[in-house]
Amino acid sequence: MHRLIFALCFAFTPLLAHAWNAAGHRLTALIAWQQLSPTSQKWVAAALAGHPDHPRWMEKAHSGEAADIFAEASTWPDDIRRDPRFYTEGREPATAPLPGLGDTARHQRWHYVDVDRNGKSEAGEIDRQIERLSRVLHSSADREQLSYALPWLLHLVADIHQPLHVGRHDDEGGNTVEIENPFNKRLPFAKLHTYWDDLPGPPWLRGKRLAQNAARLIAAFPPADQGNVRAWRDESHRLLALAYPEPAGSLLPTISAEFNQQAHDIANRRIVEAGYRLGRLLEAIVSHRVSRGTS
Ligand SMILES: [Zn+2]
Repeated sequence: MHRLIFALCFAFTPLLAHAWNAAGHRLTALIAWQQLSPTSQKWVAAALAGHPDHPRWMEKAHSGEAADIFAEASTWPDDIRRDPRFYTEGREPATAPLPGLGDTARHQRWHYVDVDRNGKSEAGEIDRQIERLSRVLHSSADREQLSYALPWLLHLVADIHQPLHVGRHDDEGGNTVEIENPFNKRLPFAKLHTYWDDLPGPPWLRGKRLAQNAARLIAAFPPADQGNVRAWRDESHRLLALAYPEPAGSLLPTISAEFNQQAHDIANRRIVEAGYRLGRLLEAIVSHRVSRGTS
């Protein structure tokens, strides 16, 4: 019976998951925000204020605080997946242009990269896009481009730290692997990718509780080396070895207590690493602009 229910569940969820959930993104963003100087925070807040969806972020955050808006902006690249103003390239016709946005594509391929055993990319562009968006933010004088690039950079630096975002091509980054998870009463059967995406906490985490969780994570893990995009990508890919539960023959692999604990530890550590790295990357970009007088 379990199997039948399970099969039915999946029959109606054809969309691929491709991101830490919103809690993971907001935690990463909040940690990053704390790494920025007050001058850089001001510059970033002004750039985000130029984004056409800025009023929506204020509404969702129930706040006008710059840190809360920054955290809200980090989930924007996932929010547009369900937004009819945007379209999925190759599957839908392009939607009408939106004032203030360079394009209305969902860019699903930007969220991940699949690599082969030798580390060669097979699909997805997350590493290339992080580098491109950093260059835009570093050098562009176009306000529209800057406010478009920012939410994407916040989002993708977090995503590249999720092990299954640098996944195996043959199982679509764990999207075709089904698991049984006795520790989640709400979702006891899930895709392995979704299990990992949901580890950071409930997606409605905001405000005071978000700040408390971020503080707890910072206290638990030391600041990571900065490294570079290639290193972040390779770390995630190496962690794949720990990302799959034991195979169980003809039955679904089941998440054990030990596996669940280890997966939470990895997810929490990766969020802290992503937060520090995103913060330092943005600080370097913005302080360079400010000192050049192109802010
Ligand atoms: Zn994503």
